[in-house]
Amino acid sequence: MTERLQKFLARAGVASRRKCEELIIAGEVEVDGRIVSELGTVIDPLQQTVKVRGQTVFAERVVCVVLHKPVSYVTTVSDPQGRRTVLDLLTEVRERVYPVGRLDYDTSGLLLLSNDGELTYRLLHPKHHVEKVYRATVLGMPSAETLRQLQTGVTLDDGVTSPAVIHVLRHHPKESVVEIMIHEGRNRQVRRMFEAVSHPVKRLKRIRFGPLELGTLQTGEWRLLTAVEQRALY
Ligand code: URA
Repeated sequence: MTERLQKFLARAGVASRRKCEELIIAGEVEVDGRIVSELGTVIDPLQQTVKVRGQTVFAERVVCVVLHKPVSYVTTVSDPQGRRTVLDLLTEVRERVYPVGRLDYDTSGLLLLSNDGELTYRLLHPKHHVEKVYRATVLGMPSAETLRQLQTGVTLDDGVTSPAVIHVLRHHPKESVVEIMIHEGRNRQVRRMFEAVSHPVKRLKRIRFGPLELGTLQTGEWRLLTAVEQRALY
């Protein structure tokens, strides 16, 4: 089966598709011993040898891991401050997986990781509108008007948020629990939205990402997606 060079590189886990395109343009990629700097190049991974900076690239089995991220872990591959990273929880996963998006250090919940750079790129692209559901414990009791505002859009320093869907699970003057579904994935978005309406978030947990639910996965546990779940993401 043939495929575009940048797609093969992303699928093999070299980097995101955009980064792979940059590598090709920069002349860092060789196919059968010849540098290829054309983005449209089509290759047959089973017949041809692809190298990036002299290293042969092998197409790995595509895996997707769903992790119940605990708080106090960073969602990066390494951390300059030496904090624990989500990859420390995946010691038995042999493939080199990368987080699909990010959860804050102090956010827990569903985190998808994959070695398919192409999939990662697609799921994070705003045009794909992947639904994300968070359960937030917030200070105080948001009024009906505040909830409406959160649903229609609040003004943050990077612009007005897109429509959200909110369900109140616990309404209490001291602290309330709400579920909020958003499509965007701006940095610390849920925390900033509640901050903007004067109900700071005390705890935040992601319980759904697209078709994937956290379900009964315990904090710190992970599992591989089934073939059916994996297909639902493509
Ligand atoms: N919104 C946040 O504020 N934090 C997260 O980790 C995810 C979404």
